[in-house]
Amino acid sequence: MPYLRSADARLHINILIGIPLFALYGALTTELQTKTLVLAAVFYFLTGFGITGGYHRLWSHKGWNAVAPVRFIVLMFGAAALQGSARWWCRNHRAHHKFTDTTKVRARSARVTPVPRMIR
Ligand SMILES: [Zn+2]
Repeated sequence: MPYLRSADARLHINILIGIPLFALYGALTTELQTKTLVLAAVFYFLTGFGITGGYHRLWSHKGWNAVAPVRFIVLMFGAAALQGSARWWCRNHRAHHKFTDTTKVRARSARVTPVPRMIR
């Protein structure tokens, strides 16, 4: 698997492991304040929307459109979710969808639950 040996993979793995460890350290060494909890909850939903509404529906599927300032804000929240750039995410997501609505199976697909024949 060439990707797993790449510099990008090392960076992503370090981010995926490092940020939760940093958050755990902060959670164990800092007193939780209500405003921190509220900010975390708001940020959770905004970054979630950055991915689901922005990266996924807006840019991957072009399911909706918005004026440039709104696109920029959604882009920033998507980037804050640390799931890679919008371009990288959308390219991979479009590749994911290329075969999901067909009977073809993509090589090395992570598909684990094939659609039963009776509902195709
Ligand atoms: Zn999709």
